[in-house]
Amino acid sequence: MANRWGIPNSVELIVTARDANCVYCGIELNRLSTNRKTKPTWEHIINDIKINGIENIALCCGSCNSSKGNKTLNEWLKSKYCKEKGINENTVAPVVQKHLLASSK
Ligand SMILES: [Zn+2]
Repeated sequence: MANRWGIPNSVELIVTARDANCVYCGIELNRLSTNRKTKPTWEHIINDIKINGIENIALCCGSCNSSKGNKTLNEWLKSKYCKEKGINENTVAPVVQKHLLASSK
């Protein structure tokens, strides 16, 4: 069983419980919200839809998701959006930091 994004239900449950806040900007997510700033969206931290484990799947707000788009994490963290919001490798959620540590080696 998988949701419409191809994410297994078991992963969806774990990630939904873990990511109460946007993994990037930290805003509190509200599943019932219709505001894209607080509505949770499914994010593949590494832009590969085949990687569907809890290490790569996260919830982030619509603003961060549309800003990140197809950029890699490292590219995106240098963007104007992240600078303006004060988003950097020290402020993102631990699940995102793990990818940064892995890619800086
Ligand atoms: Zn966000």
